[in-house]
Amino acid sequence: MEIITSTKYKLAIKGGSPLRTELFPAYNNIGEEEKAAVMRVLDTGNLSQFLGAWHKDFYGGPTVQAFEKAWATAFDVKHAITVNSNTSGLFAAIGACNIQPGDEVIVSPYTMSASALAPIIYGAVPVFADIDEDNFGLNPASVEAKITPRTKAILVVHIFGNPAKMDEIMAIAKKHNLYVIEDCAQAPLATYKGKLVGSIGDIGVFSLNYHKHIHTGEGGVITTNNDKLAEKLHLIRNHGENIVEPTGVKDLTNTFGYNFRMTEIEAAIGIEQLKKLPFLLEERLQNAKFFNENLGKIAGIIPAIVENGSKHVYYVQPFKFKKEIIGIDRNTFINAVKAEIPSAVLREDTPLIGMGYVRPLYLAPIYQQRAASCSFNCEKYKGVVDYSKGICPVAEKMHYEELFSHEYMRGNMTTKDLQDVVDAFYKVAENIDELR
Ligand SMILES: *Cc1c(COP(=O)(O)O)cnc(C)c1O
Repeated sequence: MEIITSTKYKLAIKGGSPLRTELFPAYNNIGEEEKAAVMRVLDTGNLSQFLGAWHKDFYGGPTVQAFEKAWATAFDVKHAITVNSNTSGLFAAIGACNIQPGDEVIVSPYTMSASALAPIIYGAVPVFADIDEDNFGLNPASVEAKITPRTKAILVVHIFGNPAKMDEIMAIAKKHNLYVIEDCAQAPLATYKGKLVGSIGDIGVFSLNYHKHIHTGEGGVITTNNDKLAEKLHLIRNHGENIVEPTGVKDLTNTFGYNFRMTEIEAAIGIEQLKKLPFLLEERLQNAKFFNENLGKIAGIIPAIVENGSKHVYYVQPFKFKKEIIGIDRNTFINAVKAEIPSAVLREDTPLIGMGYVRPLYLAPIYQQRAASCSFNCEKYKGVVDYSKGICPVAEKMHYEELFSHEYMRGNMTTKDLQDVVDAFYKVAENIDELR
């Protein structure tokens, strides 16, 4: 692809004309298939068939069960259990692993807030390990350093769609007899050395919220190959306290239920979305490749590093920004790029490019003020957990200095749209003296 040089233009942030003002296309993957599927459910009048009692409908209606079957096949797992969000799915996963007050769970600081919050719901303590410089998931050495006699599980996040270092993490878990829960919200059909994420640890959790690769508005799916965990996940999803007597379930630890049930309508949309996922992914991966090749030619901008034999599915596309090579800081550079290109239809107020991702989670008020009724304040908790600034230096460096991410690799982008994004970066890189 020819690089269009634009040295003759003044940067938009310095008062020049922006490279493009026309909004980028919306990412909308909902079509006639989903509409027809929803109408079929509406025609039955049966929008959810779940019953919170021991009955065949304890497992949900026909569409929920059909979606679960399709998901289990596509993701190569024995059990797929739908829920109303990934957040609920993570809560259920922590519950199913019998995590209790006094226990610790090792979590990543660089993820959506729900991934670290789940242990708190069961009175346990999230302990933050640092992230890996290459893939921004948990760093195995840091995980190992955080293990104590109270550690019960490792909650891994395949952040941005790039699989975490699962071989090392599974080996640590085995050595210390820990559960591994994979937060796969951003990584549907990502593979680690040929294995689908969500099938490597004890439990995987996927999201079907509006922002994700495929969606049902809100929704989630839990995956496991373990029958015992699957049984408990079903109990936690749907009023388990009512089921333990008729079924004779013996282990009552955390065996009380929430209502985390998915409706028939969402499941009907989910079935259609799942069919589209391979195609949507292919398009996204092609676009990401184009950006990796072209933006990667700018000295000091470094594309994602993917392990041999693994597949990154680019929920967002991360790059590292080396200030010492480029000569100005990341925020000045990215602000200049943002001034050259607009956002997208449906997302007009949301920039599709960001400096860093989310603030390392331990810096949030809930951790800083230790605002929980049990967890780190629980009398059963015999450890000391640190949430000070500086505990995860790599996460902090990535967030405040080196990482930027964008969403322009989403589907529906034309070749010209992609080229305009690349041109904006080149315009800034070539006119960098204006920013010094
Ligand atoms: C989106 C997301 C969640 C939460 O998903 P919901 O379905 O909205 O609850 C959790 N973890 C990660 C990494 C996410 O990206």
